[in-house]
Amino acid sequence: MTRRQCTGEYKVKPIKKKVRDLLGYPYPTRVPKGIFVEQWIGISTDEFHRAKDADVQYMRNVHPLIEMNWSRSDCVDYLSSLGLADTPKSSCLGCPFHGNFQWRHIRDNSPAEWEDVVKFDAAIRKGNARANATGNVLLGEAFLHRSRVPLDQAPIDHVTAAERAALGEEAAAELEQGVANGCSPWTCRSEVEAVQAEFGLTA
Ligand code: SF4
Repeated sequence: MTRRQCTGEYKVKPIKKKVRDLLGYPYPTRVPKGIFVEQWIGISTDEFHRAKDADVQYMRNVHPLIEMNWSRSDCVDYLSSLGLADTPKSSCLGCPFHGNFQWRHIRDNSPAEWEDVVKFDAAIRKGNARANATGNVLLGEAFLHRSRVPLDQAPIDHVTAAERAALGEEAAAELEQGVANGCSPWTCRSEVEAVQAEFGLTA
């Protein structure tokens, strides 16, 4: 795993820009005190520790699921009651935390999106100027799939025997299913402690 600025660059910055535009105070105009948007964030009680105040005074965070005392399973039950039991985890299309299942789902159901993620995978091969964990140039190559094979050639149809032998059962299960948590701008699955907990990685 390398450094990732995905949530900050692709989600948080665009949201703040849009909020400022909606309020009528685009950057760098100062937003007057007392002018703010209320932002509803769907963190359930399982992840209450991730519920935080906004870091700017023109946004105020509200966590309705926590106020209702709803856990992840309460949400699943509710969605199931509406016939939406197969609602996928929220995440970006080209997320490096996808498992084979998510990659197959994109490939088999959304050809245009599959083309998009294959191109994205090719585009990140050299990373960026501060790509590795210490903020230096990436010496190797970056891939979205854990096999470190271009996505359109990666073994996503099943976990291979070699992968299972190398990874062990638990990591092999994650290779198939991806990380358990979804991802939102305010509960990013790339947060270090979350990744370490989910993948058993060291920093
Ligand atoms: S889903 Fe989250 S961790 Fe994955 S690429 Fe998007 S912001 Fe990053």
